[in-house]
Amino acid sequence: MATTLEVGARARVDSLGFPPERILMAPGPSNLHPRVLQALIAPLIGHKDPYFLAVMEETAGLLRQVFKTQNRATLALPGTGGSGMEAALINLLEPGDTVVIGSAGFFAHRMVDISARLTGVKVVVVEAAWGSPVDNDELVEALRRHRPRVLAVVHGETSTGVEQPFEGLAEACREVGALLVVDAVASLGGVPLPVDELGIDICYSGSQKCLSAPPGLAPITLSERAMSAIEARRTPVQSWYLDLGLHARLWDTEHIYHHTSPILNVYALREALRIIVEEGVDQRIERHLGHARALWAGLEALGLRLFVEPAQRLTSVTTVLAPPGVSASVVRALLLDEFNLEISGGLGEYADRMWRIGIMGHSAQKANVMLLLTALAHVLTREGYSFS
Ligand SMILES: *Cc1c(COP(=O)(O)O)cnc(C)c1O
Repeated sequence: MATTLEVGARARVDSLGFPPERILMAPGPSNLHPRVLQALIAPLIGHKDPYFLAVMEETAGLLRQVFKTQNRATLALPGTGGSGMEAALINLLEPGDTVVIGSAGFFAHRMVDISARLTGVKVVVVEAAWGSPVDNDELVEALRRHRPRVLAVVHGETSTGVEQPFEGLAEACREVGALLVVDAVASLGGVPLPVDELGIDICYSGSQKCLSAPPGLAPITLSERAMSAIEARRTPVQSWYLDLGLHARLWDTEHIYHHTSPILNVYALREALRIIVEEGVDQRIERHLGHARALWAGLEALGLRLFVEPAQRLTSVTTVLAPPGVSASVVRALLLDEFNLEISGGLGEYADRMWRIGIMGHSAQKANVMLLLTALAHVLTREGYSFS
């Protein structure tokens, strides 16, 4: 226990100087490519400057390529991934509506929390145990029984490291007139997610995970159906700031004034997206898969137990259990302090029993995976773990 305090105290002192240079292998934020950092110190211009309007257009076009969509309403909301989640739900749901939420982790539960705050909205939760995806047959059954306005699922559940499959969901939504909302905060740009092909109506993400831009923007895309549903609302969207109709008019040719765009963040996101498109979206996804597989094999070679079955594993977030008698937080603190390497701990009951490792964007590199495995073996040995 003394170790935790010591390490924590040292980290606090270091943080008073220039920020340390870390290898970021938590499930976000991920490291920035030098070109993205450079974009953050490009000249600041006005949010109505014709140059900036062209930047927005280019950014939207690049986002379409990464989302694999033709959706006209494709943009980046000011705010982190959570603003995308809140916007998607509050724009589609009205008093008297029902939402079905597939929930098997912390972030799906946040969707439940947000929906439960909406006046007059009935929330139906289809649950599964942490470590498994939600059963699609149960989701389809709930759709037919409750005929909701919205079905919301998390594609990559960061708290558990599980990827949610989509089989049958879009078809069942169409059958009952529901809209499909998908959280891709932890997966966009690192895990396959062809938005149009999957029939997703609103998909949102976060800038700082597999996209490797700084935190602060939530890319989001809306189908024609979603846009029409918002236009046809009987009541105005509860939040003026997160009204997606207004954001769509800011990003479309009309360019209304809604807020002062976070110009530098948009530059950085554009650069991060350019890098993704230069590498190739599919090639990048392959790279994530390759490094994730190497990480899984390495962790198993250390005798550690992965939390999720191979077929259900999310390549961008690996969850691994700390061996009995080893504190996950002490190991994490030592990795940060001695190797400048950041990984995350578990959430909820797994706080001190699990590590969550991000294979995301610019951080997803062979050298990082090798360093993590070596450093982990080193620290675990010192903490008294013996490899069998
Ligand atoms: C990180 C994350 C969020 C929240 O994003 P913030 O940028 O922290 O607001 C939502 N959903 C999932 C699946 C995430 O991984």
